[in-house]
Formats: sequence, C-alpha cells, structure tokens
Amino acid sequence: MNSGPDAKPTRPRSAIIAIYDKTCLGARYVHASVRAAGYPCDLILFRDRRVLGTPPTDEEYRLLRDLLARLKPAVVGVSLRSFAFGIAERVTRAAREAGVPLVVWGGTHPTLDPESCLGPADAAVVGEGEQTMVDIMAAVTAGLPLTGIRNVWTRGPDGIIRAPLRPLEQDLDSVPFPVMGDEGKYTIDKGRLHEGDIYLGKTDQPRSYYIIASRGCPFNCDFCCNNAIRRRFEGLGTYVRKRSPENVVRELEAARAAMPLNYVSFMDELFTLDRDWNREICALYKPRIGLPFWAGVHPRTVTDEMMATMVDAGLHLVMMGIQSGSERSRRENFHRSTTNEEILRATRLIHKYRLVSYFDFIVDNPYETRDDLRQTLELILELPRPHNLEVFSLCWFPSTSLTERALADGKITRDDLEDRTSKTFDHFLSDPTRPSNADNQFAITIAWFEQLKVNWPDLTVKFWQNEFDGSRHLLPQGLLRFFVSRDFFWERPELTRRLLNLVVRPMRYTIHSLRYARAGVRMVQAGKSRELIGKLRQRLN
Ligand code: SF4
Repeated sequence: MNSGPDAKPTRPRSAIIAIYDKTCLGARYVHASVRAAGYPCDLILFRDRRVLGTPPTDEEYRLLRDLLARLKPAVVGVSLRSFAFGIAERVTRAAREAGVPLVVWGGTHPTLDPESCLGPADAAVVGEGEQTMVDIMAAVTAGLPLTGIRNVWTRGPDGIIRAPLRPLEQDLDSVPFPVMGDEGKYTIDKGRLHEGDIYLGKTDQPRSYYIIASRGCPFNCDFCCNNAIRRRFEGLGTYVRKRSPENVVRELEAARAAMPLNYVSFMDELFTLDRDWNREICALYKPRIGLPFWAGVHPRTVTDEMMATMVDAGLHLVMMGIQSGSERSRRENFHRSTTNEEILRATRLIHKYRLVSYFDFIVDNPYETRDDLRQTLELILELPRPHNLEVFSLCWFPSTSLTERALADGKITRDDLEDRTSKTFDHFLSDPTRPSNADNQFAITIAWFEQLKVNWPDLTVKFWQNEFDGSRHLLPQGLLRFFVSRDFFWERPELTRRLLNLVVRPMRYTIHSLRYARAGVRMVQAGKSRELIGKLRQRLN
C-alpha cells in the first residue's frame, strides 16, 4: 500500500490458473517470469490431470471464486489446452464474480485459435507467454490498455485487434526456473482448497520432477499442435530451441535441494533431437543427478549410440509415437515419412536395452481404411514384447493442417474440434467398449488384448507395466493374428471382444488364485495361520 510520499507505488497482483495439470510447465514459467520481474503473482492449480474425466464440482468453482475474492488480483491468467475450453469459461465466470477486472487466456488453445477465446476472455496471449505477461502487468501498472502489446489479441469496437507477434525466445536459459515451495500457491482439488502447491510444495514424499529441456519439434506431423504453432511463428526465429545442458541440470539440482526426488520426466517433444546436445546433458546428468528418467523419442532419432548414452545416464522408459502401421496413411495423412522398417529397428533397439516402452497409435481417423488399420495391427503384433501401447482417438486440434483439410473435405465439422468434444478430457485413450465404427472398434479391441500383461513376481494382470523384467504378454501374437486376418471378425468387434474375454478370463482367475495361494503360504510360514483363517472367513462371508 502507498503509505507516504517516498513509498513505491504498489505493483498490481496477478494470479495464474492452471487447469487439470499440476505440473503445468508453461504456466509455471509464466508465473516465475512475472515474479522475477517484480510483480506479485499467485499460482492456482485447479484440479489435476489424474482426475481427467471427472468435471469440477460447483463447490470447487465456489472455492475458486472465494479464493480470488480474497487474493484480489488485478489480472487473472488462465492457462488452457483445447479440451479445457468449457472449464476455462466457468473459471472465468468465477473470476468475474470475484470482481477480477481483467481475465487473459493463454496456453496451447489460445495460440491455436485466439479468436475463439475473445468473448469469454478479455484478451488472448498467442504463443509463449513469459515476456507477454510481464508486458501486460506493466501496462496494467501504468493504466494503459493492452492493445498493441505483442502477442496479445483483444476485441475492439471494430473487431479483433491482432497485435504483431514477438520473435520466439531463443535464449531459453534466460527463463527463470519454476518457483519451488508453497508460498503464494494454492491447489483446488477433491472438493477442497489446499494452501500450497501439491507438486512443488514442501513434502517428505519422493516424487518425479517434470522438466523441459527444449521447445518445439523438428518434425511437422499434420495432426500435431506443433504443426499449427510452427506455421503461426514462421519467420520469427528458429522454432526448435534448446536450453544449455548446464542450465537443465542446474534446474534439477535446484529441485532436488527443495524436495526429495526419485525420478525425472523429460517432457520435451523429442529428447533425442540433437545427438551432441543429448550426450552433453547425459554427461552432466549422470554424476550430478543420477536418477532414473523417461524421455520421448522418434523412430528416426533412435540410434544405438544415443540409447547406450542415455541408458548409462539412467534412462528407464521411452515414449515413441508410431501413429499408424500404414506407410501410406502416415505419409499422406500425418506427414510422417518413416518406414515400418525404421520403426521396427527403433523398437528393437529399445528392447535391446531392456527399456520400458510406450508406443502411441491413433485410431478413429476418417482417412484410414480397413486395410490401413489392418497394417497397424500387423505392425503392433510385430513389436518386440514386452511393450505398452497408448491407442488414442484422433483429436482435431484447431488450425492444424489435418484439421483444416478434414474441414475442407467435409470429413468433420467445427463441432468435432477438440474445444467442443474435449476428447483429451474423457476419452483420449481408446476403450473397446466405446462406440466407434466397426473397423476402429475391432482395431481398438485387438490392441487392448494385445497389451494385457502379467507381471512376475507380483502376479498382477495389467495393461501398462512399468518394469521390463518380469512383464509377460498374456495372449500369443499368433492368436491375435488369426483374428486380424479374418474379415468375419472385423465385421463383428463385439463378438471378437467376447471370444477373447473367454480366453483371458480363466487366465486371470488362475493368476489371481496363484497370488492368493502364495500369500496364504507365506502367512502360514510366518506363523499367521489364525489371521489367514480370519481373512478367509471374512471373504467367504
Ligand atoms: S514428432 Fe511428435 S511432437 Fe513432433 S510434430 Fe510429430 S507428433 Fe508432434
């Protein structure tokens, strides 16, 4: 408060709200940048992605409104992806009810489709928001309008005012690290307000730290948000940018000084985008951090030498997009020119190093035929085991080349776009019981059964296993190939599911029985026979 002639004027307060993402790297970098520029800024985590699919309750919106009424920010920044459009509208309404004078939306969705945000929000930030949010705070401090601030779109009396875009930040080392600790941070989740940060706040529980060492992707897949963002920033600097290895490792050291860590998650689109850079990070990471980590790779960038380097540094798990087994579809629909041979070579290398693997595929693509889907399943059935699959329903992100083509071809309408369907929210991962056309449902069914695995020595049956050793697929590939080769089953996905269930159910029962029997023997050996009898009685009752 301004209490005398020499006192500095109070700087306006802001709050950044992240929706369904406690790690929210983009929002955290903006939050850290605004604070580093000397403006008070709170961070509010509005639910976490682990409860995706469950919408926020009225009580949680009320908690948010009351919190904002208490904090009294002059500006609220809402960070959102397309799926969260409807939730962001209600979050904005809560902010307005709390008396917040200015609500700005930023993040992936406002970058892809800023026009759609101007209505609910007063302004949309297009692109990376660190410096833009600082400029917004400077304008608010000076009592100036936002018009003309680079990357900010607003609505004027004559329509949308599109300010020019600033060049992409090339010096990523200049971006401050996310703020550790609980001060000025709030979490609204499970119907409660927690005064603190459930991810980077004080804790005794070791956790995984999420970090991004680069921005952008050297590839340009037609369905991916990178495709649209790259086009929007064409001519405004190099799209793929890397932090220095020293800066990356320093952030990890700062995180480890603030909380116990047991794992590191590299959230880069592609951690293997540059061999020398990757090698340098690994060389610093191993002696100074030395924790197991996961990273995203691309079939084209997986080399024996790079895998050996990363495994030596602690690589435990990789994620790799394959998307389709049809080379034609990958090339024509996704703008991915990798061959199946390159993909299989990469998966064999991943297997050679006994890494946990997650391979991504996309279904529900109206440009794919049964033959394309059959090739996808044939490729899946050639992948070295064990592996995990993530089979996604194609999301139509605004402004990507594939979305624009499908809109022009009449394959989809505006109502199929991700801000309307929110697939990421509640049916991102395909489920064989969800209605789809017969061919896609059949493909999802086979992929679902293909990845059922038993873990030894746990004797648990699950889809995703995060251990390489002891993870065994339940069904033989030959059995699944038999189904894939018969059109009769493609036309009857429900029958296929029932038949495969008939095979799997007794296997599951046998494995579970073995687990219970082993637990019983162990209790007897430990002299806990009475306790065992009590437990059995309880179960029988
Ligand atoms: S490789 Fe992955 S991140 Fe890069 S453009 Fe393709 S889908 Fe997007």
